[in-house]
Amino acid sequence: MKCNCCSNKNYDICCGRFHRREDIPDTPEQLMRSRYAAYALGLADYILDTYTAKEQENHSIKDISEFANSCQFVRLEIISCPTSDQVEFKAYYLLDGKLGALHERSNFVQEDGRWKYRDGELFPHAEVKIARNDPCPCESGKKYKQCHLK
Ligand SMILES: [Zn+2]
Ligand SMILES: [Zn+2]
Repeated sequence: MKCNCCSNKNYDICCGRFHRREDIPDTPEQLMRSRYAAYALGLADYILDTYTAKEQENHSIKDISEFANSCQFVRLEIISCPTSDQVEFKAYYLLDGKLGALHERSNFVQEDGRWKYRDGELFPHAEVKIARNDPCPCESGKKYKQCHLK
């Protein structure tokens, strides 16, 4: 299967190897992509594990799972990597028939030789209603009603 971080690569050689703990991301962008893919797949333990040690105290598997299950993540857009430890992205999600996006510039740090997610600055992003016959926002080329509409 194609990786849901929108890299257009196979899951196993993209984020799957990180999720299975066979490899560690070389760059903040790889880590960011693997965290997004983990949200989409509901892999809360991976999300928790890739926060900095300090941030892990502020999160729990339960909170992360609830957030991951609260909406459908449909597409990731990497906007830029403004510095070597920052990634700006939009993570598009569907919630109650509306398309929204988490637009964030995230800060990453290295701990024990591994990139970790520290925090991020969120930017406002409007939600738009998606009609049944609109193109699906995941860009599958199908209509919404034939794709991500539940
Ligand atoms: Zn991926
Ligand atoms: Zn879709």
